[in-house]
Amino acid sequence: MAQNAHKTRITATVDFAADGKQVGHLSVPHSRNTSAWGALELPVAVIANGTGPTVVFIGGNHGDEYEGPIALVKLTAALDAGEVTGRVIVLPALNLPAFRSGTRLSPIDGLNMNRIFPGAHDGTLTSAIAHYVSSEILPLADVVVDIHSGGKTLDFVPSAIIHNLPDPAQMDQCLGALKAFGAPVGLILTELDSEGMLDTTVERMGKTFLSTELGGGGTARVETVAIAERGVRNVLKHFGVLVGAADVPTPARLMETPEGAFVSAGDGGLYEPVKDLGETVAAGEAIGRIHFVETLERAPLIHTAQVDGLILCRGVPGLVEKGDCLVVVARDRT
Ligand code: ZN
Repeated sequence: MAQNAHKTRITATVDFAADGKQVGHLSVPHSRNTSAWGALELPVAVIANGTGPTVVFIGGNHGDEYEGPIALVKLTAALDAGEVTGRVIVLPALNLPAFRSGTRLSPIDGLNMNRIFPGAHDGTLTSAIAHYVSSEILPLADVVVDIHSGGKTLDFVPSAIIHNLPDPAQMDQCLGALKAFGAPVGLILTELDSEGMLDTTVERMGKTFLSTELGGGGTARVETVAIAERGVRNVLKHFGVLVGAADVPTPARLMETPEGAFVSAGDGGLYEPVKDLGETVAAGEAIGRIHFVETLERAPLIHTAQVDGLILCRGVPGLVEKGDCLVVVARDRT
């Protein structure tokens, strides 16, 4: 990609090549009305010791998803370089402006970090951060784990996620990471819109990539934080960066999203769920109704599942707009 041939404007206070434990920041130039020569200081940690794989953990790719940032600040505080073989790079709040405002997108340039990869060195703030990750961090990585949750508008049965990849060896590596993470569901997801994602960028580099959807609703739960904390350590154990076997209480239920998995609102209105998160549905069965409170003569719009399966994801807001995701129905992997 020609734009990636250009050097980043972002500098780091940590040395990614040095052994030991370092915490610091990436300095992203951010000249603005309130600070002419200001910079955004994006937190980063490097914990390295000897020769071994490099695992990159990312949280806060979207600013309203909290299991990643919580698990990653705790992992950073707890890890000693001496217990690591290889290198752990932690970016707990990748879209820091979005994290600060508790929103999915950056309030500075309105961009979705996970739709702007690989980014541009001369792009706006979000794009420049994505470009730094693509050009400076990903080349160091063997494994990338990007911890997502549903944010304020979606809620998930806690899932570790990979994609179908054409290279069987790469797919095996990703599947191994997914199983080791230890989430209740292991989803092989077909994305609605994969262009511009960190996921796609890492996968195209031939590296091992794991994502998650660990809950949502704009908050964290005791259960989902525990899954995230166990999961990041499990991945490190699986790849030999930490000693010991991955702690997987129950093997992941492997699932996939067939065509028709996504059910979207046919009109704007008040959503009444008929099936809740984690419930089983059959194709043709009602999953919810949209009511038109201001038009009492209008009958509710009934939405049905298109496929048999489990409600893996549900929309959170009570008021929906036409086109909003109501549910995602996943089925057991065949
Ligand atoms: Zn997300």
